[in-house]
Amino acid sequence: MSAALVTGASRGIGRGIAVALAEAGLDVIVNYASNAGAAAEAAAEVERAGARAAVVQGDVGDARDRARLVDEAYAAFGDIALLVNNAGVAPSVRADILEASEESFDRLVGINLKGPYFLTQLVANRMIAAGTPGKIVTVSSMSAYTASVNRGDYCITKAGLSMLTKLYAARLAEHGINVYEVRPGIIATDMTGGVQEKYDRLIYDEGVTPIRRWGTPQDVGRAVAAIARDLFPFSTGQVIDVDGGFHLRTL
Ligand code: NAP
Repeated sequence: MSAALVTGASRGIGRGIAVALAEAGLDVIVNYASNAGAAAEAAAEVERAGARAAVVQGDVGDARDRARLVDEAYAAFGDIALLVNNAGVAPSVRADILEASEESFDRLVGINLKGPYFLTQLVANRMIAAGTPGKIVTVSSMSAYTASVNRGDYCITKAGLSMLTKLYAARLAEHGINVYEVRPGIIATDMTGGVQEKYDRLIYDEGVTPIRRWGTPQDVGRAVAAIARDLFPFSTGQVIDVDGGFHLRTL
């Protein structure tokens, strides 16, 4: 059985991805930042789906944590066939870009962009050294191309992940490593819990997503599982929108 390392797998989208991968037959390293209880629950769900789970704490924004995370992930199951860069944070305060702080910008860049960039570098080098084909999936957002002026820092990090995907796809193809970007739309998780009423109105009353419902962590998990099942062998650098059609322009 091959294994997947999923960052931020304790809750929300990451947990949905972890369980979908377990159902697809992969063992899962469940990474989390601070919520050990949620990580243990996610691991139990992975095991109920018939796979093995290993829980590894680690802040993806911290270089030493990233190195330890990769060491412990390889120690757990011997090999990593799939890295899923999912962990990410929203700004603590949604502030207009004319007022937003450098502190928030640095925090988001560190966790959402620098973290996946260098975690991918670490895992890619291990995959190359192992000589076995692997896959890398990065969870960005519709914010990669949608300007929300009250969370510019978040949008910039997600736009950066689109280039991360292109760069690593171009660099790693010769090593048999395909790289994908999965772009969720509005997904029901803790992250969107505080803005539920706003998005209820946008989805159900205004039809901002042609498919008029909230997305779920399972929706995103199924897209990542399709990649894990090797259903896109001749595609790399590809973006998969999981957004109920939000990205469509209509007239
Ligand atoms: P969430 O419910 O807030 O869960 C965040 C997950 O990331 C948790 O497992 C958390 O661990 C982990 N995490 C946070 N900071 C971390 C760090 N520094 N190092 C390692 N893990 C960390 O968020 P979500 O909605 O599932 O979002 C997951 C990803 O999807 C994010 O990249 C987000 O930007 C993206 N996304 C979300 C939506 C949406 O509508 N929800 C839409 C588009 C994209 P703990 O449990 O330990 O805190």
